[in-house]
Amino acid sequence: MKLKFCGAVSSVTGSCHLLTTEQHKVLLDCGLYQGGKTLEQMNEEPFPFVPSEIECVILSHAHVDHCGRLPLLVKQGFSGPIYCTDATADLLHIMLPDCAHIQEKETEWANRKADRLGKPHSEPLYTMEDAQETLMLVQPILYDQLFQVNDQMRAVFNDAGHILGSAITELWIEEGEKTTKLVYTGDIGVEERPILRNPVKIKKADVVVMEATYGSRLHESNEHSLQELIQIIVKTVKRGGNVIIPSFAVGRTQELIYELNRFYEANDEYRDFLKRVQVYIDSPMAISTTQVFRRNAQVFDDETKRYILEGDTPLDFPNLNFSRTSQDSMALNSDEKPKIIIAASGMCDAGRICHHLKHNLWNRKNSIVFVGYQANGTLGRRILDGEKEVSVLGEKINVQAEIYNLEGFSGHADRDGLLSWVKGLQKAPKNIFLVHGEDESKEALEALILEETGYPCTAVHGVTEVDLSEIEGMTLEEVERDIVDEEKIMQVRDKLYGIHEVIEDILYSANLAVGEQIPTEKLVQISNVIMQLEKETLNLGMAVTKEAILPEKSGVAKDEE
Ligand SMILES: [Zn+2]
Repeated sequence: MKLKFCGAVSSVTGSCHLLTTEQHKVLLDCGLYQGGKTLEQMNEEPFPFVPSEIECVILSHAHVDHCGRLPLLVKQGFSGPIYCTDATADLLHIMLPDCAHIQEKETEWANRKADRLGKPHSEPLYTMEDAQETLMLVQPILYDQLFQVNDQMRAVFNDAGHILGSAITELWIEEGEKTTKLVYTGDIGVEERPILRNPVKIKKADVVVMEATYGSRLHESNEHSLQELIQIIVKTVKRGGNVIIPSFAVGRTQELIYELNRFYEANDEYRDFLKRVQVYIDSPMAISTTQVFRRNAQVFDDETKRYILEGDTPLDFPNLNFSRTSQDSMALNSDEKPKIIIAASGMCDAGRICHHLKHNLWNRKNSIVFVGYQANGTLGRRILDGEKEVSVLGEKINVQAEIYNLEGFSGHADRDGLLSWVKGLQKAPKNIFLVHGEDESKEALEALILEETGYPCTAVHGVTEVDLSEIEGMTLEEVERDIVDEEKIMQVRDKLYGIHEVIEDILYSANLAVGEQIPTEKLVQISNVIMQLEKETLNLGMAVTKEAILPEKSGVAKDEE
């Protein structure tokens, strides 16, 4: 068995890893490179494998740097299933057409320019048709459900707590008598974050492929960043300025809405002041993603589910506005009132955020607040690095606004979070391969893991292939014990026991009720249980508050990270 690291090997984008056994070829993620021309040109490079030979793709989550080259794979002959979680499948229906739209638009612009120079036309990386074809191949799988990938491999998706639907994949690969277990982390989220559940810690693995985005950094706490954000908003609005927040349309924006909503409800001090400040979500993609979040409440954490059941709508508040059309978006620039604008893309390399930066960066009254990772080469990174003059949409802009970076909103585990995840492994794996990080992060994490756990660890540099055939692996018995995790089984038993009791009680009472032997009081009680069940189903299934908000078709909003 061999494992080839085909992407996210020198930066944080372009995630793609190939697992090859004698009979099978399985791809883990197929992401787009992002962050400046040099990286983006890598998208045009041929894959280091033959796409038509790939049997299936296991997709960790719906961020573009993990899924954005799937339509290209399909265009070049891949036709197998794409396995991912339910929520990821929902998000792909937004992300992939949006990516295709951007590809088509960018080529159109380039070709118009080529016409003027008398140069030949170029083709888009892929088209809307390729994206639609890709969506037909998507096979949603529930979290914690064991599924057969092929006759040699079985897998389970565990919650990664990074964005809605994100998964840490456990993959058991049988070869003859031996089974090797590979764990692919995708991107690992932060514990105790709003909306999402905590990243699941895996106890056993022979080989781990792990992200290292913040391998050398510690974040502020989420609570601290929220307090800071509120202070920035109050200060900026008081001096008559706007707060501009570049945000990833998928995930971060919904978390910001959630946090602002919680803050408004819990905080008397600023409530009246803040309620007068309008908040605009200016990204068609963020709008449709918010809808997907509201549809997938079953994977929220317990706290968020509780709010929903109590009748709160955690992804909504009165002064929240969605800018659907580009006219709505442009109108914001001529509106003099201080306001908060949340727009994509999060790294400012495309989308409506560019217009808002052009209109707000030059004025010292305004504040720009970064809430996510800014990759090398992006406009966001240049602003964050303190450049005093930047080029936005082809125009030179003097940077006068106040610039803030609130890392506590990051969707990625920091150094300690990553280490704590590794410590969840009860035995040393044969190797932990570190990908998805700049060199310095991967190397720092490699040293830290070795020092703290003694587990073998390798920072991956460049496209490389490793041979895993030497790994001893697990026996069949060990595999069964690993798949059937005792703790999980206990939880399932507890749940079943609870359901059994309720149903038994209902059936018994129903029997009595038919014969009119049941006291009215008891009947009311049963009726309440049934109504509660109905309410939970309805609330969880359709936690939609604002009327159906359909995105504009022209969603030019790259999402990344
Ligand atoms: Zn991600």
